Amino acid sequence: MPNPPAFEQSDKAWYSPSNDLVGMPARGLFHSSEEYYASAFHELAHSTGHVKRLHRENFDNPVSFGSESYSKEELIAEMTAAMLCRIAGIEQKTLENSAAYLKTWIARLKSDSRLLVSAASQAQKAADFIQGNLTARELPCARPQLCGINLSQGFQLDELQLHFVTAH
Ligand SMILES: [Zn+2]
Repeated sequence: MPNPPAFEQSDKAWYSPSNDLVGMPARGLFHSSEEYYASAFHELAHSTGHVKRLHRENFDNPVSFGSESYSKEELIAEMTAAMLCRIAGIEQKTLENSAAYLKTWIARLKSDSRLLVSAASQAQKAADFIQGNLTARELPCARPQLCGINLSQGFQLDELQLHFVTAH
């Protein structure tokens, strides 16, 4: 992942847009490593919305819990996590949780199916970004180096695992 956010150990999994920081409980507090990675992917997916990365619409505004923009951001994060779990080959252990979580947020967007389609395409973009598969043309800033994005820093899932193992 180019330009990744910082991580800190916490009692819950979260992403703070104002500090561009991901909090993750220790791996031992999860039932399985698959659940740990699914959760880490979800929070990393949130971080792709930051102005330094994909600069998603409404990301900078504080989103209130239960609002449409909040539901959409949760959908994007969870769909991204599901895609990355599939790529990592761990989806069989995480799919059920993911599907249950997605169902909750999709129910809130019933009135606007366009939001769902838009969330799916943004999730694809987030997954591509995390994997380092986006070209400069697809990024929000014309000159990625100036936004601190180093496109040559491709992301590998095993590198990420190494990162998590050494971070705590
Ligand atoms: Zn979330």
